Amino acid sequence: MSWRSGGRLRWAAAVPFALVGLLGAPVGTGAATGTRAPVERTAEPTEQVTEPAEEGALVPSYEAGLTPEDEKVKAFLTQNAVLEDIAAYASERIVLPQDVPLHAAGCGEANAFWDPRAQDITFCYEYLEELAPLLAAQQSKGTAEERSAQLDQDLVGVTNEAVLHELGHALVNLYDLPVVGKEEDAADQLSALLLASGDERHVGYALSTITSYAALANAAARGEQPLKVYADEHSLDAQRFYNWVCWLYGSDPDQYAPVVQTERNPDGILPPDRAGQCPGEFRQMEKSWSPALKPYLKT
Ligand SMILES: [Zn+2]
Repeated sequence: MSWRSGGRLRWAAAVPFALVGLLGAPVGTGAATGTRAPVERTAEPTEQVTEPAEEGALVPSYEAGLTPEDEKVKAFLTQNAVLEDIAAYASERIVLPQDVPLHAAGCGEANAFWDPRAQDITFCYEYLEELAPLLAAQQSKGTAEERSAQLDQDLVGVTNEAVLHELGHALVNLYDLPVVGKEEDAADQLSALLLASGDERHVGYALSTITSYAALANAAARGEQPLKVYADEHSLDAQRFYNWVCWLYGSDPDQYAPVVQTERNPDGILPPDRAGQCPGEFRQMEKSWSPALKPYLKT
């Protein structure tokens, strides 16, 4: 399969030209990696979320880390107001029936989860600690500074993806939504729907997500993941990679046409058989999630 030639998923080669600049866009003006001192940024106080009482919102908080590495991730997320930005974005697009606490925390594992009993979402600092070296290894172009800025953007992107995925579980639970198929796939779909239909910054986060699944799938292809991943309730990373490529393409087939593999475009990463289904998949996702979406998304 062409996407695995050279041992790497070649998403970057297929990224539409117009998006190349986007991929290199820095995170705000003061983005920082976990390895260098974050630049000053004044985080918005969470009390400024001014939703009316009948509508809930994600309510961010940053808990103490368990390790010095956790504390670096906490500083990165705090100083870039990453959770606050996600909460504001979700409020624009999702109707939440109640406030949902969104904790960033040290968990002792690379994870993110919705807790149906506590009715809150936790994003673990370890998630970024695990992904950062994989994302960095995925990079092949640019100066050290450009790579660092790209890594920052990718880390913010995968944080968006993970939190919006957990928001999907929260919505299924809080609205008692019927889910056909795996709830994990439905949660991925909500995350993809919100990011792919967003502005350039959020589409960039969708691209970061695709890059992260490419990195994880490459690690799996190298035999660096245990066999138990096949028992996991999530789809495999390579499947999630293709799903995200498909959904992004399906959100705007004209713009993302270069990702489709054709005779004239043999480097396209999305097989044509799947590509033909993607616009329909994306429309179906909008329909499935419509009870929780703000009306303007229902186009
Ligand atoms: Zn999940």
